[in-house]
Amino acid sequence: MIYLDYSATTPVSFDVLDSYNKATRDYMGNANSIHSLGVKSKVLLNSAIKQICELFNIQENELIITSGATEANNTALKGVALYNQKRGKHLIVSKLEHPSIYSICEFLETQGFEISYVNNDSDGLIDFEDLKKKIREDTILVSICAVNSEVGIRQPLKTIRQIIKKENPNTVFHSDITQAIGKIPVSLHDVDLASMSAHKIFGPKGIGFLYKSSKVNLVPLIHGSGKFNDLRNGTPPLPLIVALSKACRIALKDLESKEMKVKKLNERICLELENYDGILINKTKYSIPHILNISFKNIRPETFIHALEEDEIYVSTNTACASLELSTSVMAIFNDKRRAMSTIRISLSYVTTNEEITKFLNIFKLRYKQLNNLLKEDE
Ligand code: PMP
Repeated sequence: MIYLDYSATTPVSFDVLDSYNKATRDYMGNANSIHSLGVKSKVLLNSAIKQICELFNIQENELIITSGATEANNTALKGVALYNQKRGKHLIVSKLEHPSIYSICEFLETQGFEISYVNNDSDGLIDFEDLKKKIREDTILVSICAVNSEVGIRQPLKTIRQIIKKENPNTVFHSDITQAIGKIPVSLHDVDLASMSAHKIFGPKGIGFLYKSSKVNLVPLIHGSGKFNDLRNGTPPLPLIVALSKACRIALKDLESKEMKVKKLNERICLELENYDGILINKTKYSIPHILNISFKNIRPETFIHALEEDEIYVSTNTACASLELSTSVMAIFNDKRRAMSTIRISLSYVTTNEEITKFLNIFKLRYKQLNNLLKEDE
């Protein structure tokens, strides 16, 4: 098998799985219980939380454990909207967000909130002037992802934060950093709120976090006993939190050399695919190398994906969460509907090997020829 869909999800690393298994086996107590089994679990919980906070250089009261990035995004946007609705009902998001952000916005619109969509330039970079213009007195939140999940566009969070705060110091800046963590350096001090998910960084599915600066207030989505965290209630899933902490530790190590490796693999693929007349590479100077998006001029992307699958090669349509739909990001950057309707995403990791790419490119060529010949026969 050649797995090239690391932006959809990653396999759980064995080290992470070991931590998960050990915590499950040896720490069965509820960390909220006051007896010794509970206390033992609480000690491990505290040390996992402490480690995550140290890794990201944040305070422990700034970490909200969630079931993943979708929940973190919901907590951020709905939580801030509810808390601040008397002050304002206007939010701004980019045109490069994950589908979860847009569906939250649709919901907020039904509740009387107003959403503006900030423009980007033809390289995908946020249009700073447009952002400035759109920020108003009643703008309570701006949400812009650190790295876009479809084309891999990376945004300068620090600059964006400066623009937002200059226009309106009360506007909260949220960033979905799910596709950035473990790929590029991210400072949580550049944002007020940040969402992430462990299953994108070789951790298990069902766990992630929302960073919330201590200066920001929000209304929780999930109310409960308040024993673990007032802002996200329920019994802490200790093995998942331990696994999250381990995954983060591994993910943040050697970022530069990991990125260099992925960059070389990306360049190899691009060099080859540039020779195909029927392929457009949806890449700009802001795309990170881990996410490589291409469009077919003639072949249907799902047909190609299933053809590759016959050789156990796995890539995806625009995102795993929005299969077979128009790629909103490709549309927002290249403004070409046909191009946006025919994308596939090849996503790489530092564990991807040169041999895998050689095999991938060979099979890609074969399948591309076959499908193009079929098209010609049909004509
Ligand atoms: N945001 C981004 C940028 C993503 O790529 C994803 C996963 N496709 C999500 C949010 C949703 O994450 P989760 O699966 O943890 O809910």
